[in-house]
Formats: sequence, C-alpha cells, structure tokens
Amino acid sequence: MTADDTDHQFMRRAIELARECPPSATAFSVGAVVVADGVEIATGFSRETDEKVHAEESALDKLGDEDARLGRATIYSTLEPCSQRASAGRAPCTERILRAGIPRVVIAWREPTTFVTNCVGVENLRQHGVEVLELADLADEAMAMNRHLDLS
Ligand SMILES: [Zn+2]
Repeated sequence: MTADDTDHQFMRRAIELARECPPSATAFSVGAVVVADGVEIATGFSRETDEKVHAEESALDKLGDEDARLGRATIYSTLEPCSQRASAGRAPCTERILRAGIPRVVIAWREPTTFVTNCVGVENLRQHGVEVLELADLADEAMAMNRHLDLS
C-alpha cells in the first residue's frame, strides 16, 4: 500500500465520523482521526461531547498533550483546522495541534468564509513547520453533510 492510499483510507474514516455529528444549522460537521505508527489512536467529530466541541479538539482531548505518540502522529480532519474561535475559553484547533506537537495534518477542504472571514489554519500550521496535505479529490465527499450551510 502506498502512503497516498493510507492517507485516503484515513480521510474516508474521518468523513464517516463527520456523518455522525449531531446536525446543526449554524456549524459545520467535521470528522477527525489521529493516527500514529499506522494505527488510529483517537477519533472525534463535531459536537461529540458538547455542542461547541470541534472534531480535532474532541480527538485530542482523548489523548492529552503528554502522549508521546503525538510527536510522530498525523491528524486527518475533513475541514481545515480553525485558526480563531467564537467560543470563549476554547483554543483554536490550529493552536491545539501545534501544542500537541503533531508534525503532519491532512485535510479534505479549506474553511469557507461562512463563519469566519479568513481562516488561516493551514498557513499557521505551515509557518510552524507542520506538513499540511490537502486531498482535494475527497473535498466533495467531505462537504456532503454541510450542503445545507452557506458554503459561498
Ligand atoms: Zn476547530
């Protein structure tokens, strides 16, 4: 199996998780999978544990920042990790990923301007030396459960 196949396989898993999200008229449905040493070590999806929790946040909350596997992990998220948040007291997912020391992020689509005017999650991550890969061929599938939102 090539590395590329592995990335698609785990992104499809993240898309499955995005379908599990409790529906929302005001927020995206996102799925996230953290993978280390070729195996899934944590998963999360939007609104999994409370109505404000993000997919990446929910997954990372299950591991804790001290987990040594994070330093060689990849996080798959169907949507670009957020760089700012409306919820007070919650760190943007970009910040959580950097704090966890995750060196690689794979996403399927970039945040549209529906809720924030300019998401710079990918730019922030790259600036800090994180490798970011976009699987544009899975973007449609990853967006499918968000069609009711304004994606302009
Ligand atoms: Zn987020």
